[in-house]
Amino acid sequence: MAKVPAYHTNSMEEPPKNREVHHDRDDCFEGKKIEKKHWEMGTGNKPRCKECIKLG
Ligand SMILES: [Zn+2]
Repeated sequence: MAKVPAYHTNSMEEPPKNREVHHDRDDCFEGKKIEKKHWEMGTGNKPRCKECIKLG
């Protein structure tokens, strides 16, 4: 339940929706849909996930 360094995914194995944003919370349920092995560090120049914004 914490803030983590920004992560995103560019994996083609993930649905397009998962590739549109970056996350910075490890308790974000949208972020949890991304398999850990598909995580890439940084924002990827993607907007911040709305769920992460809500979580703070
Ligand atoms: Zn998120």
